[in-house]
Amino acid sequence: MERIDELRVQADAVILAHNYQPPWVKKLADFCGDSLQLSRLAATHPRSTIVFCGVEFMAESAKLLSPSKRVLLPASGAGCSLADSISAAELAQWRSGYPDAIVVAYVNTSAAVKALSDVCCTSANAVEIVNEIPRDRTVLFLPDIFLGSYVAERTQHPSLKLWMGECHVHAGISSANLEERIANDPDAELYIHPECGCTSEALYRASEVPGATIRLLSTTQMIDEAKKTKSRHVLVATEVGILSDLMAVNPITRFEAVNPLARCPYMNLVTPDSLVDALENGVGEVSIDSSIAERAAAPLLAMLDPGLRPWRFQ
Ligand code: SF4
Repeated sequence: MERIDELRVQADAVILAHNYQPPWVKKLADFCGDSLQLSRLAATHPRSTIVFCGVEFMAESAKLLSPSKRVLLPASGAGCSLADSISAAELAQWRSGYPDAIVVAYVNTSAAVKALSDVCCTSANAVEIVNEIPRDRTVLFLPDIFLGSYVAERTQHPSLKLWMGECHVHAGISSANLEERIANDPDAELYIHPECGCTSEALYRASEVPGATIRLLSTTQMIDEAKKTKSRHVLVATEVGILSDLMAVNPITRFEAVNPLARCPYMNLVTPDSLVDALENGVGEVSIDSSIAERAAAPLLAMLDPGLRPWRFQ
């Protein structure tokens, strides 16, 4: 840790860690958060090098929003099964069937897919963004089918079409897992990330089961809720890396995973050696093909600045 501290100063670097990173990485990081918070921070932070402890699409987003900075990903091969569930060629083909559609891409997508999209979203703002799109416009929402179904239910947008992608970690948190956990502790509060396979079951319970305390939340919203909750026991449906953050902000409540096996292999690829290698030798520098970089930044900027959303001037 001392070596990393020295190198961070020498490299003029800020270390950012996603909420799903293991506790030792979060302890070392200058800032922790979700991918959107961290990308925003990367763009405004005065240091010239960003070390992004997360996965590829997150480091790419940071680079798209901060093109003049050096962005390092100290985790070789840190992909994402959700981002891999749609390619640029597949999106081009889907889009060709709906020439007037607005394409809403979750941030968990490659730069090449973002380059073919109109606006990005996160789990925290997907409902707000789709709600803003005129009801007579077709909307192509990608790539997560569970988040898409949640957005469809919440917005009732009449022309929302969903891509059938999923994250293998969140899809593995099933309705059966949720039912079993609730049966063992019917009074527990529930925090559900809308990417999970149990989202529909959670929505059903939220509307049909009197007294059920169910919240559909992004990771940052979970941390905010954890600070306020008076519940003695909360069941959490998302990647298990978030549990250490929830316990840190609220040591009194018991936070438990709906599926304790929901650990993302890609989020656990940072090692002390890979961090040193990144800081000392610039290993893992992110570069984005200049032919797509500008187009890929546009939907991220449209997410951050409502004035840039295409339906406002088309
Ligand atoms: S938890 Fe799922 S969506 Fe998140 S990085 Fe891992 S594979 Fe991708």
